[in-house]
Amino acid sequence: MRSVRLDLIGGTSMAATAQLRSRGIDFHLTTTANVTLANHADAWLPLAIPVAMRTGSEIESNSAPSPTFVANAVRAQEVLHAWWPDLDIVGLPPAGAEPAVTDGRGIGSFFSGGVDSFFTAHRHADQITHLIFVTGFDISVAEVGHAQRSVDNARAAAAAMGKQLIVVSADLRKLGGPHALDWGYHFHGVAMAHVAHLLSDHLHTIYIPSSYSTEDQVAWGSAEALDPLWSSSRMRIIHDGGPSRRHDKVVTLVDDEVAMSHLRVCWERSGEQLNCGECLKCVRTAISIRSAGGRCATLPSHIGVLDIARLPFRQFVDPDALWRLRIALTNSRHRNRPVEIALAGAEAGSRVNRALKTALVKRVTRARVAAMRSTSG
Ligand SMILES: [Zn+2]
Repeated sequence: MRSVRLDLIGGTSMAATAQLRSRGIDFHLTTTANVTLANHADAWLPLAIPVAMRTGSEIESNSAPSPTFVANAVRAQEVLHAWWPDLDIVGLPPAGAEPAVTDGRGIGSFFSGGVDSFFTAHRHADQITHLIFVTGFDISVAEVGHAQRSVDNARAAAAAMGKQLIVVSADLRKLGGPHALDWGYHFHGVAMAHVAHLLSDHLHTIYIPSSYSTEDQVAWGSAEALDPLWSSSRMRIIHDGGPSRRHDKVVTLVDDEVAMSHLRVCWERSGEQLNCGECLKCVRTAISIRSAGGRCATLPSHIGVLDIARLPFRQFVDPDALWRLRIALTNSRHRNRPVEIALAGAEAGSRVNRALKTALVKRVTRARVAAMRSTSG
């Protein structure tokens, strides 16, 4: 039987380090933060499990996970295997004792500064004590200027909301490529579970803001059916968002002064701004805000037909969201017919693009898995 070997390495109190040996290659992984980190097996197994599932390997470790974590992780594997049958169910290291939990811990929420983050922070404002911003996930650690601007923005928003900001930096994305694990489909949820467990000295519960509403749930790295199954007795993970779709979330946020001053939705990298104002996410969010009669300091106040016509085709991956946005605009007091027609065109292109993209991801993953299996003998 093949194995994946997970060894926890001391590190310092603010840096958790581990080594993962898979297919004869050692991956040295470090996650750092501006608070102390609890380095234990429950924190690293969410990363090791999809890697081992991809290679059909048992996991061995120099550190024992907690019994509750192991019981949940067995079910998490069942979900992953049902979604992606080429991820095999694998053996986990034997559980140790249930850890002692301390009182006085808070409740956190992942916070990128986007619509989903602000919505969860807004909805659970009375409970949440800490917001968690991570570099190394959608923002590369190498993009120093952009990362710093985004951290500064998150810090200002957290301060305005009266929350403490935890800033985490992780280099775990390097595990994905060599194991044919796609960041969106397979890996970003376990990456958040990893960070959540490392923060278990400070927090007992962490919200993961949902990208999709309950009704629109798909097989995705972070999902309602999956995220809670990475919980343990010392860390409860909640997938939050419920029935609210993106446009409904924006409508909720137009009266939230902090959100309207600090919203960061953009994945493009352009100049000194937080949002480029020109990509699909920027344009879509700006239209949503306008249709709800709001005004956001970090996005353009007016979007015209040309702004939609200029959008790069590769970004059109969510036709249903474009459709809902068009309907919302049609039903609002701020109708703009030329923009509605342009959105209908974008929606049609988006349907074609999504079909092509899904087929491509499946094909590339199949080819990578075949190549990986042929080299690992
Ligand atoms: Zn943008």
